[in-house]
Amino acid sequence: MQTDGAAKVALVTGGSRGIGAGIVRSLHAAGCMVFFTYVAARGPAEELARELDAERVHCARVDLADSDALPAVVEGCTARFGRLDVLVNNAGIFAENPFDGASYDGWRAGWAKTFAVNLFGVADLSWLALRAMRGNAADAYGTRGRIITITSRAGQRGELTFADYGASKAAAGNLTKSIARGCARDGIVAFSVAPGFILTEMAAESISRDGDTIRAEIPGGRIGGPDDVAGIVTFLASGAADYATGTTIDVNGASYVHWTACTGRRALDGVH
Ligand code: NAP
Repeated sequence: MQTDGAAKVALVTGGSRGIGAGIVRSLHAAGCMVFFTYVAARGPAEELARELDAERVHCARVDLADSDALPAVVEGCTARFGRLDVLVNNAGIFAENPFDGASYDGWRAGWAKTFAVNLFGVADLSWLALRAMRGNAADAYGTRGRIITITSRAGQRGELTFADYGASKAAAGNLTKSIARGCARDGIVAFSVAPGFILTEMAAESISRDGDTIRAEIPGGRIGGPDDVAGIVTFLASGAADYATGTTIDVNGASYVHWTACTGRRALDGVH
């Protein structure tokens, strides 16, 4: 993946395992230089960077909930690779937080922690990345930067026992729309990618407990893997989809196909 003769530089949060590690591998295979983050899994992160190519892949620790630490991530990326072309907001956290849970403190803590990582971390890092991207020369697509955020099917349909997680992802999806509309004049595009269940540590417990129910919701019967998401992210990072800026791509095996009130209304009105 080239930008005017130079390889694209991607910053991927949460690249140490799961979907993020798949994205790091895929972007690297497409020719990108990749700066990725971890928060706890230093060993696996450093191993991944070594395995791929220590010259073109670099990792650094950051807690997305620590907003003061985020400027150093963007600065680290531009210092290491000279620029930032693509931000992939992948890192996220998930925990059950049911409406009928026993503890009010637990309920509030769940919302605060989930939003700190899944929304405020994403918003802050995006703001910082935008500042770096505006200085880029426009590439062959006329674009200076791409921001791709991993949201979730949960942000579209509303979930029964983790409303905080779903709400954080819905808000992150709305942030994508705002970036696409508000920063187009700066040559920035933005996309959301909304997976359903994907086989990673995050989903392992739910899948082992409710696997049959989860599979029954997926017409093809297959739960996705990290590569199902990584391939879409790499395509979006390439520039080929830039005119679709602002949109969300579902990656859920058609277990939930989202539609907007606008298109639904038009269809009902027979407008198209
Ligand atoms: P995962 O296996 O749990 O991996 C999470 C990644 O995020 C790890 O790299 C982790 O770093 C990093 N991370 C966690 N907390 C962090 C924090 N406070 N600050 C910085 N990094 C942090 O999750 P996954 O399944 O790959 O999920 C990746 C993204 O896809 C998330 O945004 C998730 O919400 C979304 N998603 C997942 C599914 C699914 O079924 N798996 C479905 C829909 C959406 P360490 O390794 O260092 O802990």
